[in-house]
Amino acid sequence: MCGIVGYIGQRRAYDILVQGLHRLEYRGYDSSGVAMISDAAELNIYKSKGKVEALEHFAANKDLSGTIGIAHTRWATHGEPNDTNAHPHFSQSGRLAMVHNGTIENYSVLKKALSAHGYTFVSQTDTEVAVQLVEYIMDTNHCSLFDAMCEATKRIVGAYAFAVIDRQNPNQIIAARQSSPLVIGIGEGEYFLASDATPIIEYTNKVVYLDDGDIAVIDRGAELKVFDSKTTSKSRVEITELQMSIEQLEKGGYPHFMLKEIFEQPKTLADCISGRVSADGKKITLSGVIEHRSKFLKTKRIIIVACGTSWHAALIGKHLIEEYCRIPVVVEYASEFRYANPVVNQGDILIALSQSGETADTLAALELAKSRGAFVFGICNVIGSSIPRATHSGCYIHVGPEIGVASTKAFTGQVTVLAMMAMLIGQMKGTVDDATLERVATDIRRVPTLIKDIFTKNDKKIEELAKIFTYAHNFLYLGRGYNYPSALEGALKLKEISYIHAEGYPAAEMKHGTIALIDNDMPSVVIAIKDNVYEKTVNNIQQVKARGGKVVAIVTEGDTIVAQMADYVIEVPEISECLTPLLTAIPLQLLAYYIAVNKGRNVDQPRNLAKSVTVE
Ligand code: GLU
Repeated sequence: MCGIVGYIGQRRAYDILVQGLHRLEYRGYDSSGVAMISDAAELNIYKSKGKVEALEHFAANKDLSGTIGIAHTRWATHGEPNDTNAHPHFSQSGRLAMVHNGTIENYSVLKKALSAHGYTFVSQTDTEVAVQLVEYIMDTNHCSLFDAMCEATKRIVGAYAFAVIDRQNPNQIIAARQSSPLVIGIGEGEYFLASDATPIIEYTNKVVYLDDGDIAVIDRGAELKVFDSKTTSKSRVEITELQMSIEQLEKGGYPHFMLKEIFEQPKTLADCISGRVSADGKKITLSGVIEHRSKFLKTKRIIIVACGTSWHAALIGKHLIEEYCRIPVVVEYASEFRYANPVVNQGDILIALSQSGETADTLAALELAKSRGAFVFGICNVIGSSIPRATHSGCYIHVGPEIGVASTKAFTGQVTVLAMMAMLIGQMKGTVDDATLERVATDIRRVPTLIKDIFTKNDKKIEELAKIFTYAHNFLYLGRGYNYPSALEGALKLKEISYIHAEGYPAAEMKHGTIALIDNDMPSVVIAIKDNVYEKTVNNIQQVKARGGKVVAIVTEGDTIVAQMADYVIEVPEISECLTPLLTAIPLQLLAYYIAVNKGRNVDQPRNLAKSVTVE
């Protein structure tokens, strides 16, 4: 996590840096800071605990001049979130300033060695060790900042995106990348640097994505140069054109990005489906799958690795692929998989699911599987991010930038892609007949309209319902089959933005222990749509009611049975069972959103969280 911004050009760097930090705040908001080389050749560093706004207040009356600078918004890994641990960090002499995204695993060894050479440290961060190391190398080897960065990156073990400036050279930024993302925007005589393209898009659509092991030399007025840090040989600079638009990064009249993103889903899913499901529902086209047809036909097993919300989407993917393709699927937490010495066989397919395409654990899990002979396939949102670049093939979800920290439209995008994949592979294998394909594919095309319908009928109702439950301390979310992962996701949404404890559970498992928790104060949200276990779920609702529990039920339109026993009912339209999670997700997202708003929470930037988890 953490967001990095950098600028060198003709404009006042501060304005671009701060605007960029706002765009990247979703990546962390423990503290933020800027470092600029002023017109008077001073290296000014301003930093402040908390959000970027706090930094702006702090910097308001300071010298903000200078056309070169770097900036950072932090999600702390080493040292508490305070002013001192905020980035940028200075080197011993005050000559260098550095921002860093990632974690340095051998920082204590390096710190000890530097201390022995007389270096002192003011912060508890691993980053300060890195900047001191660079200065130490410059001083002892009498070398340039670039050479020192090459040498330092050889000695540093861990993950990093670094940007460094040197007071003695106001015409250069050096940036380095290993496992944490960095993008360079190329303008007219100016360069922008950022953790993702969102701070860059308003200035230029020409970008260069750095690869692991790259060191970029960004000189004022000169051509961008990228080197391999190990060999110091020059790499090819590949310019990519961004497809993003600035409107996608604004709230567009909504009070929060999360609400905007929830309401965007009819459009984002239409984009996700566009060109992939034929109008007659007879054909699904996903080139990333079709081009590797034989791999999907031959594979004996699919492993899906993911974290958080993506992991819930992966569980739905397992149901879809097993039901329609008859291929065994295992779903693993990427963080567990990567350290578990997993069995990966030649011919296995590993699907890495990640909104940002930068999730460190997922990236490491896919690299491990790749090294053991698996075919690796990515399902991501952010175009050009690390996972799509590390995989053999993949499929973007195309839902546009997701800025709210709590994932909503990416979840439904992931499930939609997994549903299309299951249908396509099933068709190729012959495990899905024409009629099934046509029914499900046609239903996939109906999803955007049906979601609009849910908003029209239920938005106000859910807002009212949220008032009743705002002060509950615990929630249970129950679901079965395709909607068991929906229950997990509903509970996670509530936890992450309202800080109310919530547990997701397979409805029938509840009686093996969790039912002991149920009383009048513990509401249960039960997904009880008309599926193959509908009657069983109805029984589970009765079990909750018999113990005095309050029930909010998500049901299929026209349901009269659950309506009689549940305290509150939210209807969703009927659709093929395998697609129901796309509809049940909507009321669950809205419920979590309105409860969090009622509690006065910062919905887009919940405490302790950040999006794009680029640390372990
Ligand atoms: N390790 C650095 C710190 O704690 C950067 C953290 C990050 O990138 O999340 O300040």
